[in-house]
Order: sequence, then structure tokens, then C-alpha cells
Amino acid sequence: MTARLIKGTEIREEILAELRAETEELKAKYGRVPGLVTILIGENPASVSYVTLKIKTAQSLGYKEIQDNRDPDISEAELLDLIDRYNKDDSINGILVQLPLPKHIDEAKVINAIDPDKDVDGFHPVNIGRLMLGGDEVKFPPCTPAAIQEMIIRSGVETSGAEVVVVGRSNIVGKPIANMLLQKGAGANATVTIVHTGTKDLASHCLRADILIVAAGVPGLVKPEWIKPGACVIDVGVNRIGEKVSSKTGKTIAVLSGDVDFEPACERAGWITPVPGGVGPMTITMLMKNTMKSFKSSLGIK
Ligand code: NAP
Repeated sequence: MTARLIKGTEIREEILAELRAETEELKAKYGRVPGLVTILIGENPASVSYVTLKIKTAQSLGYKEIQDNRDPDISEAELLDLIDRYNKDDSINGILVQLPLPKHIDEAKVINAIDPDKDVDGFHPVNIGRLMLGGDEVKFPPCTPAAIQEMIIRSGVETSGAEVVVVGRSNIVGKPIANMLLQKGAGANATVTIVHTGTKDLASHCLRADILIVAAGVPGLVKPEWIKPGACVIDVGVNRIGEKVSSKTGKTIAVLSGDVDFEPACERAGWITPVPGGVGPMTITMLMKNTMKSFKSSLGIK
């Protein structure tokens, strides 16, 4: 069997086109567009490149985008004040503080300071609670788990009644996606198991999975013989395993791999996400979707 590829790059374009059309329609009707602020502290190269991509995507959709870059020596109090200002700004629907923050700033305090109704990353404890409650309570599902669920749904893979195994229990991927897929409702209603480093016999759990979601950060952790034939495999891992010179730009770029041994896995799985080009490109897209949701909620529409 050769697995069908679930291409994040293609699904991203579909969703961005939907959001672009919606932005134009709402602008014509209400004279307003979704507003997103990205707050970047310092110049960590990875953070700069993530933020740049978020800004470019927001602009390409016609969103109002404020890029608020601050020096790395900003005090915690100053940052909290800044967030408070955006909390009160009606033209801003989403506040994104790029993590990680410098060591002298308490990350939890900063996340807790964001108005939960503008927390488009879905990291605020109120939004994590809403996610747990499920149904209409959910406001902003965190972006990577939302990307995973959207990719499964748009690929036509049945979740209801499926055995889902999630490898990894982080707060940003493993726990939320497990919680989302076990909720009663469309695109979920699965039987979910989470496995981690304390799990005995990882292979036997993986082998039961109709949908196997791997978010461990360990290259090649999941062996092809751990995959149930025909299963849907979502590889969230992004691991730098080397460097190469790009044939397009001549620049040195990272060689990335997922957590699944990809080539042989394609012979067992029914569907699989590639790395790169799988979940990665979808995460920012879901941030844009959450910002649109927040904007519509501010307009009093669904
Ligand atoms: P994390 O916080 O390091 O959590 C990793 C989880 O995997 C932990 O729960 C850990 O178990 C488990 N784990 C690690 N090694 C294992 C092993 N040998 N057997 C079983 N379980 C194991 O990582 P994360 O933030 O969730 O990220 C996971 C991967 O996804 C990374 O490669 C990251 O780069 C990638 N990622 C991609 C995106 C994206 O594409 N947009 C977004 C987020 C993350 P314990 O809890 O027992 O330690």
C-alpha cells in the first residue's frame, strides 16, 4: 500500500482562500477587518522568522496587523501594561506574544494577562478549560492541535469510533489534541489513548491506532511495523537532523525530519503527513482562523 499524502501546504491554501473571501465580505458589510497584534521581545532568530511569517500571512488576508517589537530588556511590568493596552483596543481581536520570553519575564503571568477573548493562541487557562468542556464552550483551540484536527477532517478520515493514539502529552500538542478528539461531536467522538515515556510497550499501543498522532520530538521514534495497515498517521515532529545547501538560494538550510520513519511508513499507512509540508504550514493558518473567529464574535456574529 502507498499512503495518500495529507499535504498541509494544499489545505492551508484552501483555508486561506476561505478566510480572504470572508474578510472581504465582512469589510464590505461592517467596514472593519480582523485585527491581530504580534508582540516580539528581542531578536531570537527562530522567533523573528515565525513572527515574520505570521505578519505576512495576516497581511495577505487583508487583516489589520500591528507588529510590536520590543527590546529584550523590557520589564515584566512594561510588557503587562502593553498587553493591557491591546486588551482594551477594540480594533484588536487577537493578541499574540511570541514565546519563548526572556528569562526575567514570567511566561505564565504574561499568558494570564491576555484577555481570554483575544487569546488566539489558545494558551490562556480559561481557554484550556473551555477546550476541556467542549462543544460551544470552545473559543480558541490551540493552533497546532486545531491544525491536526482540520487535516484529519479535510482528508475525509473518519474520527467517530476510531481508535486514536497520541504519542506525547505536552500542553501545546498532545493533551489538547487528545481532548479535542474525544469530545462528542463531528470531527471527534474517538476513543483516545495518550502514550509517553512512562508507557509500557509503546509499539502495541501504536499498532491499535486507526489514527496515530505523533508529537514526541524524537526523529524516527515510530517504526513502520508499529503502524496498523491503512492507518492515518499525523507526524507532528519537526527535528533538525542536519544541514544542506539549498539548490534554489545557495544558502545553508536545515534538513528536517519527523518522528516517523517516513519512507517505509508510507508502505503501511493509508494516509500520512510529510515533514516538512505537513502539520507545520497549517499552524499559522489556524491562528488566522482563530483571529477571524474572535473578530466575528466581536461583531456579534457566528
Ligand atoms: P515536548 O513538550 O517536548 O513533549 C514531547 C512529548 O513526547 C512528551 O510528553 C514526552 O513524554 C513524549 N516523548 C518523548 N520521547 C518519547 C519516547 N521515546 N517515547 C514516548 N514518548 C516520548 O514537545 P512538543 O512541544 O509537544 O513537540 C513535539 C514535536 O512536535 C517537536 O518535534 C516539535 O518541534 C513539534 N511541533 C511542531 C509544531 C508544528 O508543526 N507546528 C508545533 C508544535 C510542536 P514525557 O511527558 O513522558 O516526557
